Amino acid sequence: MKLPAAVTIYEVGPRDGLQNEARQVPTSDKIRFIDALVAAGIRDIEITSFVSPKWIPQLADAAEVSRGVARPTGVRMSALVPNRRGLDTALASGMKEIAVFMSASETHNKKNVNRTIRETLAAFDEVVPHALAQKVSVRAYLSTCFGCPYEGDVDPDRVVEIVERLRDLGVYQVSVSDTIGVANPAQTEDVLSRVIAKVPLEHIAVHFHDTQGTALANCFVALTLGVTTIDAAAGGLGGCPYAPGASGNLATEDVVAMLHGMGVTTGIDLDKLTEASRTAATFVGHELPSKYLKAHLGKQARARRRAEHGSS
Ligand code: MG
Repeated sequence: MKLPAAVTIYEVGPRDGLQNEARQVPTSDKIRFIDALVAAGIRDIEITSFVSPKWIPQLADAAEVSRGVARPTGVRMSALVPNRRGLDTALASGMKEIAVFMSASETHNKKNVNRTIRETLAAFDEVVPHALAQKVSVRAYLSTCFGCPYEGDVDPDRVVEIVERLRDLGVYQVSVSDTIGVANPAQTEDVLSRVIAKVPLEHIAVHFHDTQGTALANCFVALTLGVTTIDAAAGGLGGCPYAPGASGNLATEDVVAMLHGMGVTTGIDLDKLTEASRTAATFVGHELPSKYLKAHLGKQARARRRAEHGSS
């Protein structure tokens, strides 16, 4: 079995996680959370979103978060940007990397950004070159690559075509995303193989959701194909926007534990990461879905009980 020696975890908890949480998290808690993730060894992190607070009230403090976080050398911090205005605000708030987003299925794209796929790509022509001219790197999320909540199946050739278009625009990486968590390992191999045949591996990341429990299996397939960037959210923050109560984002500690177990390095301290997620669970006000986190907390509770028992 051939696996990459090292993998980059692209942490999306502070943005993709918190934007889907019901509770409004105070800015100071968000900053503490981001600092804790960086202290755990995360080197690529999406910290917020400059999408209008009308759509994402949870991240209305994007400028304050951007200005409030420490930015140690070697840590790349990114923010989601919907349009030229969002880009300008992100730049004014000190962001050096942004991410744009669109869907591989027409209906999801229309509902999410109120534009057709063609119109969205045309709008990117006004955002991406301008960002690049300011020496700002641009990442892209391509949603619904493995299934659409409105249309069902998504044509893999359409996925490939859009990834190529995004690359031509100068986006350094496209995150091939399973927005509703329906991908299975065989489908992952099919879609990613087609993408990799056209676009060099270093420009591809994967973004799986664990809605049906297949995220790690899909990551494993991506690794065997040579993909070395995996998106994940600490603790599995965020839930699934299409299925209330269901899991959404793959939990960072779950994928990091699997990688380390297989001898693949990430540069992340799993204990510190788990501690950051434990704190996040307190400020979102509910248990987080990460399996590794649950096991870790269970072990801690057992050790505490034993210690109390032993001392009485
Ligand atoms: Mg996600």
